[in-house]
Amino acid sequence: MGAPIKKRKSFPVKIGRVTMGGGQPVVIQSMTNTDTADIEKSVQQTMELSDAGSELVRLTVNVDAAAQAIPHIKEKILAKGYTTPIIGDFHYNGHTLLTKYPECAEALDKYRINPGNVGFGETHDKNFKQMIEVALKHNKPVRIGVNWGSLDQTILNRMMDENGRSANPKSAEEVTIDAMVESALSSAAMAREYGMRPEKIVISVKMSHVQDVIKAYTILASKCEYALHVGLTEAGMGLKGAVSSTAALANLLQQGIGDTIRVSLTPAPGGARTEEVLICQHILQSLGMRQFQPSVTACPGCGRTTNTLFQEMSQDMENFFREKLPEWQKKGYIGVESLKIAVMGCIVNGPGESKVADIGISLPGTGENPKAPVFVDGKKVTTLEGPQMMTHFKKLVEDYVNQKFGSH
Ligand code: SF4
Repeated sequence: MGAPIKKRKSFPVKIGRVTMGGGQPVVIQSMTNTDTADIEKSVQQTMELSDAGSELVRLTVNVDAAAQAIPHIKEKILAKGYTTPIIGDFHYNGHTLLTKYPECAEALDKYRINPGNVGFGETHDKNFKQMIEVALKHNKPVRIGVNWGSLDQTILNRMMDENGRSANPKSAEEVTIDAMVESALSSAAMAREYGMRPEKIVISVKMSHVQDVIKAYTILASKCEYALHVGLTEAGMGLKGAVSSTAALANLLQQGIGDTIRVSLTPAPGGARTEEVLICQHILQSLGMRQFQPSVTACPGCGRTTNTLFQEMSQDMENFFREKLPEWQKKGYIGVESLKIAVMGCIVNGPGESKVADIGISLPGTGENPKAPVFVDGKKVTTLEGPQMMTHFKKLVEDYVNQKFGSH
């Protein structure tokens, strides 16, 4: 509900079969953490990320073996039916690798260039130009990805000096943010001089503090119409990483800023890399920008409900949707992702929330009659009770889905 978010105007950029910017829905991307030279593992993780919902997958291309692996990775994922565009992440030696391995340059769908890591002075300009020329030759877009941990020190030092001489000097943080934006825009201007069209350029200015990243992107967005890749860099682990990323991304997306997003989550040892993709989906879905899976509205519970039934049922429904969604999508159930279910703990808010969902169940709280009214499209249709309640509710949901989405 609520007014749709008005997206900032940006150039559309085509990356393989995916278009970002130009008013298109925000695209989710992620990055592998395998050794790219290990072709089997990199193929496997690229497919896992893609299955989880990553619409673009980036891989490190740091050494000869990684560059040599890229065409094989591309070939293998295509053979398995994965058309997910792959992006090469280059630092320091991208100009050399892209020139030395044209098959790698051709297989990649986009190159990420960090202008802070392409050399210094004249070498910087020469290396940067070389990468742009390869991109032009292979007709590939680039991301000019500035990161504050590797910000071009020549730009930062110059801007710090200028600031020091100013009558009203800014804080060091403000100058750093300005330098991030300057590095991105001057690099984009350079790429344009070499012949790159704006529809081939994506920009990012990632920082690791929420307020800084919001400020940097807000300034950047006001100064250009390039498609923007938005993310909080080095977000950290688990809950903290998820919350910080959400705080930053939600603010920017709400302003219409961001054409593609990534959540840079540090996985727990042995944890799933795909977690960062799911967080991106949840962010976009909670902002009402995209729908990925049916949503379960569940109450937090309180002293009015002392059993765990509503928690188990909410969890069970989440799992149920995760399992069933691929099957429903395969059957062509268009719009099933927008299904809304409510699982509520007692009579206080139970019937109200259940009535605004497609299907809702209001479970009995402590001391209530042990019966659970079920509402479908706002109307009470039945009352469930007993140990089979969960099974019956799931059956009702499945029937509803088949009827509503299966008749196309
Ligand atoms: S619906 Fe009932 S059990 Fe759930 S939080 Fe509200 S008052 Fe508590």
